[in-house]
This record gives sequence, structure tokens and C-alpha cells, in this order.
Amino acid sequence: MRIDSEVLKKYNRAGPRYTSYPPAPHFGREFGSDEFYDEIVRTNGESNPPLLSIYVHIPFCPSRCYFCGCNVTITRNRRRIDRYVRYLKAEIYAVARLLGSDRRVVQMHWGGGTPTYLSADQIRDLSSYIRTQFHFDDAEVSIEADPRGLGPEHLPAIREAGFNRISLGVQDLNPIVLESVNRAQSELETLSVIDQCREVGFQSINVDLIYGLPYQSMESYSHTIDTIIAASPDRLAVFNYAHVPWLKKHQRAIPDHALPTPRERLNMLTMIVDRLTDAGYEYIGMDHFARPEDELARALETNSLHRNFQGYTTHAEAETYAFGVSAISQLRNVYAQNVKDEKAYMKRIDNGELPVELGYRLHDDDHVRRHIIMQLLCNGRVSKRETEQRFGIDFDEYFKESLNGLNEFVNDGLVEIEDGVIRIRETGRLISRNIAMTFDAYLNAGDGDAARYSRTI
Ligand code: SF4
Repeated sequence: MRIDSEVLKKYNRAGPRYTSYPPAPHFGREFGSDEFYDEIVRTNGESNPPLLSIYVHIPFCPSRCYFCGCNVTITRNRRRIDRYVRYLKAEIYAVARLLGSDRRVVQMHWGGGTPTYLSADQIRDLSSYIRTQFHFDDAEVSIEADPRGLGPEHLPAIREAGFNRISLGVQDLNPIVLESVNRAQSELETLSVIDQCREVGFQSINVDLIYGLPYQSMESYSHTIDTIIAASPDRLAVFNYAHVPWLKKHQRAIPDHALPTPRERLNMLTMIVDRLTDAGYEYIGMDHFARPEDELARALETNSLHRNFQGYTTHAEAETYAFGVSAISQLRNVYAQNVKDEKAYMKRIDNGELPVELGYRLHDDDHVRRHIIMQLLCNGRVSKRETEQRFGIDFDEYFKESLNGLNEFVNDGLVEIEDGVIRIRETGRLISRNIAMTFDAYLNAGDGDAARYSRTI
């Protein structure tokens, strides 16, 4: 993929990652557990209710990585984790009772925090509990794992619990970089975990990396990328470190002077894309790469890729029910976010309530814009005619301003509009977020607070 770093620089602004539209900062308290309950009951009553995707949030980690951008609870208190798992089960039980027994699960993902901070027994126990509450089809079942804490008992237990995919948080292999962010792990240990994942038979192994961390250089990061390519994971996600110490106080432990300059970051990004695509990985979009035989790459070819809070997925048709603190459920017409505070979460469950604190019901306009933004980010194209038929609008009239905004991208050779199809060209794929942003009514109404979002590159 040929990338012009001057063009990247021009478009490097803050913007949403569009795991939802509208993005989570627009969720409000006017939508709570009662509204969520009503929506579940309404969807259940449909003649052909959607398939299910389950998300389970484990917020705990034994120590904090200084770059972390997640809502994490640092604890070594095992009893606290035990108690949280009991409450998770209670929440799962309550929601499963509401859902019709004909609702089949096609996808489950455990994220965090560090889900593999649960003991092997807890992982088996929680997974088998969930399987007693829902009807699983031939589901895609994945877990996020920290290679540092994986004991010899973990990987076999995770496989036994029915997980067929694993995502390893590697971030970098350089010891100086890792020590500087409080995440020491040896290269040998990480590579050995990747090998063990293959030995126990995961269908898909994903590796997460981060560029833009302190003390990274082109040389050190080239070594990381080449070594990971040699380990041959099925998928890779290479994220850009978002340094926002005014929002995440622990990031103040990272000295500004140790961060790569914007120019170095751009050079790293172009190196990453070049090496991965030269090694045969397909660029899926927004930080994600996959081997050509992987189903994400196949879905990209058939324009059937979708995006949700867990990232890219092939299950466009499924509604996500999310469990645990801060977890966000994503139904066709609503988003519902659980309370973030652990005590408040337990209290809500003790009171027999669903722990939803915030949410959003999509309006007609949100549906149209969500469709376009997701099409652009997932499949790199949107058909005006298909959108007109689906939503009963006159595309050119409805999106007059957005189309004006797109002109800049067209003039820069990043987007083409031909035969009623808006298509992101190869050269524009790394800034597909910026292109999608032209259709975001909230940003364009001046409602977007740049400080809430990470930079697009
Ligand atoms: S392990 Fe992951 S979630 Fe936990 S502190 Fe580190 S980056 Fe954050």
C-alpha cells in the first residue's frame, strides 16, 4: 500500500473510532434500565429476533500499564474478583431470563482489563455458566489475554471452556520500551505463548501492538514487527498510542521527551503497513490486519464486514448484549451502558435492577448516518442508490453538506465518486476515519469535543 506521509499529516486530527454511532460520549441518563428492559421485550416479540453476540467485561488487572486507556481496576484481591464473578452471573441470569430461548449466540467475547487474570477454574466455571443460560450455535468465542500472566494451566482451560480465538496484548517486544510503561515481559516469553496458543489449537490468534510508545525508534519497532511477522499470527491490530495525560493521570508517568515525534510516528506507521502488507497480510481497516484466508479478510472482499464495540466482526446481524461494569450493549435501535463503578453495579443487581446507567435510542437520521459511516469504515464504499432505497431519502439532497466536505478528499485523490458509489481509494484507507467523519452530524454541528477523541493517525 503506497502512503503519502504529507497527506497523512494533513488529516491527522482527533476523531471518534466509531465503534458506535453516535459515539459513546453522546449517551445520556435519559436512557436507563427501564428503557433497556422495554427494548429487550419489544425485540423479543419480533417474528424473527436477531442473533446474539455476548460481551463479558472483566475490569481487573494486577498492575497498571502507563499507556493504558481503559477503565481498569488494579487489584490483587482474589476475593474481590470472586465476588465480581458472582455478580456477573446474576446479571447474565437476569438478562437471559428476558431473552427468548430461540435467540442463538453466534459470537462471544471476553474483554477487559485482563480476562485471563481470572484463574483457570474461574474461566471454566463462568464460561460453562454462560452456556447454561444461552443457546450457543457454532459460535466464534474469543478472549483477550495478557501473555505475562498466562500460567501453564490457563491456555488448556481456555480451550476447554470453548474459546476458539485468542487475542494477545503484546504491544512491543523491546525491553526498554516495556519497562518504561510498567509492562515488562521478555520476547522469549511472548513468542513462547504464541507457540503454545497454536499447540492448544486456537483457530485464530490475534496480536495487539502499539506504536508511539516511549523510547520506541524505527529500528526497535522494525525488529518488533519483523519478529511478530515471523511468529505468524492470523490477525494483528497495531494501535496508535493516545497520550492524553490530562484525561488519564497515570500517563503522566510517561516522560514527554521519550515519546517519538509526530514525524517518527508517521514513519513507523508507514513501515508497519508496508511490512505487514509485504508479508501477505490484508489491511482490514483502522489498525487491523489479517491473513488473506482469515474470515475478516474474506468478509472485506464480499463487503460484509461490520464494526461493533469489540472491533471488526463478520456478524452484522447480531445484537450485542454486554455484561459487567461499564459494558455497552448494542441493539439495533439502542445502546445501553452499564454503571462504571463496581459498588454501584453490585447495588443495582442486589436491588433486582438491570445495571444500565446511560444509553441512547437512535433516531431515523442516526440510522442513516450509522449505516454510511460503518459502510465506509468496514467496506470502504457506500452506494447512494442502496442507501436511498433502504432509508427512503434523496442522497445528494440529504447529504449536501457531507458531499461538500468530501470534495477535499476527492481532490487529494483519496476518495472517488463514480456511478453513484462513494469509494475510498487505496491511498485513503488509512484515513477512513476522517472520511467517515464528514457524515457525522454531531461533529459537524460543532458538538464534537476533540479532547474526548484520539488522533486519527
Ligand atoms: S493489561 Fe491492558 S487493561 Fe490492564 S492496565 Fe495493562 S493495558 Fe490496561
